[in-house]
Amino acid sequence: MGAALQDDQFDAVIVGAGFAGLYMLHTLREHGFTARAFEVAGDVGGTWYWNRYPGARCDVESLEYSYSFSPELEQEWEWTERYAGQPEILRYAQHVADRFDLRRDIRFDTRVQSAVFDDATTGWTITTRDHDGNERATHSQFLIMAVGCLSSTNLPEFPGRDSFAGASYHTGTWPHEGVDFTGKRVAVIGTGSSAVQSIPVMAEQAAHLTVFQRTATYTVPAHNRPLGPDEVAEVKANYRALRAANRQMSGGFGAWFPRGDGSAAEADPAERDADFEARWNVGGFTYLGGYSDFLLNAASNETAAEFVRHKIAATVHDPETAALLMPSHVIGCKRLCFDSGYYETFNRPNVSLVDVSRQPIEEITPTGVRVGGVDYEVDDIVYATGFDAMTGSLLKINARGPAVSLQEAWEAGPRTYLGLAVHGLPNMFTISGPGSPSVLTNMITSIEQHVEWIGECLIQLRARGLRRIEATEAAQDAWVDYVNMVADMTLFPTCNSWYLGANVPGKTRVFMPLPGFPPYAEQCAAVAANDYEGFALA
Ligand code: FAD
Ligand code: NAP
Repeated sequence: MGAALQDDQFDAVIVGAGFAGLYMLHTLREHGFTARAFEVAGDVGGTWYWNRYPGARCDVESLEYSYSFSPELEQEWEWTERYAGQPEILRYAQHVADRFDLRRDIRFDTRVQSAVFDDATTGWTITTRDHDGNERATHSQFLIMAVGCLSSTNLPEFPGRDSFAGASYHTGTWPHEGVDFTGKRVAVIGTGSSAVQSIPVMAEQAAHLTVFQRTATYTVPAHNRPLGPDEVAEVKANYRALRAANRQMSGGFGAWFPRGDGSAAEADPAERDADFEARWNVGGFTYLGGYSDFLLNAASNETAAEFVRHKIAATVHDPETAALLMPSHVIGCKRLCFDSGYYETFNRPNVSLVDVSRQPIEEITPTGVRVGGVDYEVDDIVYATGFDAMTGSLLKINARGPAVSLQEAWEAGPRTYLGLAVHGLPNMFTISGPGSPSVLTNMITSIEQHVEWIGECLIQLRARGLRRIEATEAAQDAWVDYVNMVADMTLFPTCNSWYLGANVPGKTRVFMPLPGFPPYAEQCAAVAANDYEGFALA
């Protein structure tokens, strides 16, 4: 490994050039492996390349949502806001690519279509297709999937969808040149995080904005603001300690909010409400930090949910609209949203809300959206309908092991060992794959942990002259049982979230991520220390 670089033969092929692919490429090169990354987009950045909708922004503090692997990088980069906006995060990804000279090993505008493992050569043959339709084969010993958990858009198959005569957009593939909604009647379908961020901004432009809501959403103010030079300097002076602390936190972030423990249900109601109020005023994920049992105890959860419903009632003037905006599911079991004036937006005269929970969208007509026989005429439609999360982009690649394809292996839902490997697909790794904490964390923290684990694994294999690694079926079965057991201890499985695949019709209902980052990272380290227990090495 590491020798004889040819243009079609590498130690590893990496699929994707978001934060996972970039760091994987850098890590492999640092360790003397040859690697090539393929990226369907025209540049690096992944999520932050694609999601350019108005208001797109991170909801993990920017000083934490950034790589920790290079102390020089973290000292030289200047974040300007508490929560970085999409353009700034994209610039950061581009800076990383330039600083570590990564672009020379990335082929952009190139989609990985299929990958076939050959036991005779213990390697993968990867077929790519570029922008101009040229297909090409590349060979590598290892295949590393850095395809992203939220990179395959979900566009519902509404009858008549393609008949719409106006312009349609999906938040996850937003035009680079931006969209001017001035004077337009706009429909937004969906009320998840992307909608919550974009609706207040679009409402300021549009002549009229009609929001189609299937499930009301819990959102907490983000309270974004510029970062002051003193607070940045303080973090930079103690960055190593902050990063180490992040890795011990259940979500891989949260240095700025005090965490309480104990049960919300058992707390004194006045004290509990004061705590909610204080956290509401700080903003962001801190809201669910006051007690430790929000996602374990339905009665505790209800206290946090009810507080948000009171806030909605106090904010939204029209009682009918306020009632429609009040969610009834468990708070946090769908991803909590963070906003800048979301509920307030429904007080605007140019914004209306249509409930599509009981009467679904019937049809998209050439002139708009039809619900319950009523036509809502619009000029533009914005689909804020989310993603085929965690498995979508993996299953679009036709990856085939010696006896089974990924599609066959995952027919009844995703099955992995540690969220890192799949039995039947040797020498393939999945970064932030199903069965790992991934989307329940600050994803840069969990991406770094996966990349470093994979990098170390390849070093060990090389040192020992081993060419093949595959998760055993028994280890994978035990891991899947473990992930299900942990998820079932929580309230997560109680609502129709994308964590469960419930947003995509026909998708198998399996809780895909694993709650709890630090114990997971310890398990991964223990597996490696124990001679890659649960893997067959050859
Ligand atoms: P991605 O950034 O998705 O990159 C994967 C890349 O792989 C993409 O560029 C894609 O084009 C490419 N690709 C996929 N399939 C192929 C193929 N077959 N061939 C070639 N290329 C392929 N996480 C947080 O922790 N905090 C946040 O606040 C946060 N906000 C988010 C906001 C939005 C709008 C979205 C959509 C996600 C957000 N996330 C957030 C999650 C975010 O996806 C991760 O934080 C992180 O950016 C993922 O990096 P990645 O490299 O794993 O995946
Ligand atoms: P999402 O959370 O899945 O929201 C999609 C919305 O579309 C939901 O309201 C959903 O309703 C609705 N929808 C889907 N199909 C529909 C249909 N057939 N008819 C009517 N409505 C339909 O997607 P997202 O908002 O793009 O966010 C996805 C994830 O990306 C987030 O959870 C988060 O992890 C990440 N993200 C983060 C941020 C951030 O703040 N940093 C911003 C954007 C995204 P149901 O709820 O009823 O399914």
